[in-house]
Amino acid sequence: MDRIPISGPWITQKEVDYVSDAAATAWYANHAKYHVRFEKAFAEYVGTKYAVSLPSCTSAIHLSLAALGVGPGDEVIVPDLTWIASSAPISYVGATPVFVDVDEATWCLSAEALEAAITPKTRAVIVVDLYGGMADYDAIRAVARQHGLAVIEDAAEAIGSEYKDRRAGSLGDTGTFSFHGSKTMTTGEGGMLVTDRDDIYERVMVLRDHGRQPGDTMFFNAEVGFKYKMSSLQAALGLAQLERIEELIARKRDIFQWYREELSDEPDMKWNHEPPGVKNTYWMVTLLLPPEWGIPKEALVDQLNRRDVDTRPFFHPLSSIPAYANAPSSTGAKERNPAAYRISPYGINLPCGLNMTRDMVGRVGRAVRESLNVLLPKTPSAMENREIRVNEGENSK
Ligand SMILES: *Cc1c(COP(=O)(O)O)cnc(C)c1O
Repeated sequence: MDRIPISGPWITQKEVDYVSDAAATAWYANHAKYHVRFEKAFAEYVGTKYAVSLPSCTSAIHLSLAALGVGPGDEVIVPDLTWIASSAPISYVGATPVFVDVDEATWCLSAEALEAAITPKTRAVIVVDLYGGMADYDAIRAVARQHGLAVIEDAAEAIGSEYKDRRAGSLGDTGTFSFHGSKTMTTGEGGMLVTDRDDIYERVMVLRDHGRQPGDTMFFNAEVGFKYKMSSLQAALGLAQLERIEELIARKRDIFQWYREELSDEPDMKWNHEPPGVKNTYWMVTLLLPPEWGIPKEALVDQLNRRDVDTRPFFHPLSSIPAYANAPSSTGAKERNPAAYRISPYGINLPCGLNMTRDMVGRVGRAVRESLNVLLPKTPSAMENREIRVNEGENSK
């Protein structure tokens, strides 16, 4: 049987046509034509004044911090549960990351934990729309406003998600997106920074082009900056994907519903959260096993791997990984961030590429049940509460 991959894009003839056209025509006077169209359409979609196409979301977060003037001696708050790309740029600008706990239901930054972590050195907070879910932005923005903190919204995983009447990416001073091949829409590699603020936009345009003022035709660099740009081919691919965004999101939501249906006989498992007023676009369908079952995510990943199902472990708390072993904020994080340390050990991302069909979800569902049958006998109390529903012979592999 074919291996089921964790994630991947949905590419049609439209994307191929746009990229071919870019390769053939986006040069000379037309070199920026796809950037202009992509950025304009993207800003309109997210609901911000500006969108700047970039090589990655990591660079978008880096530029956000740099444009806000965050640097050595400053602290930046980031949720403990996220991909390292959310936090690594804090080190690029010489500031100090502070890992803060998440909300038990949304898995996103907790407003109370944010407030408790603020010191006189805190300059900014990076809020992450984890796996397509949304934080309690009303509460977070109120805390940020009260303490004069800039808000960077890492919406890498959440294009099209909504909080009340606003789209993901439009809830901070800047919003950042990723178009990595695993994300809901892709340009292969790529990213976007969005903002409503003229001052941030102007600063970003200088910093992303080696310190050149826009329109500088004498190549007389005003300062040392960065080189963060996207190619026309990527912009063409991104424009085609964006024109299909509703279809891509609808498929992501279908895939999530198929899983819920497939594993509806497992009421103790928890899934991505969608509270009232929020639209979750479920970048990664994520399953949390009840901690009382005592099944670590690594064991479930391994069992599913043996059944040719590719999964990912829930992000480890940043404060627990070797990269941050010496970060001041890692000390005592397990006690300070109990929700992050309760959630992370028992969560996995299930295959949710845009190539998934209902049948493939059925195959993953059966593999999950078989895996639990192998793993659960080690916890007798869990067995009592759980009927085993795998047919004889199905778990023989
Ligand atoms: C994918 C991802 C990023 C990084 O995106 P790149 O385009 O690979 O730099 C940042 N933050 C989160 C939460 C992500 O999932």
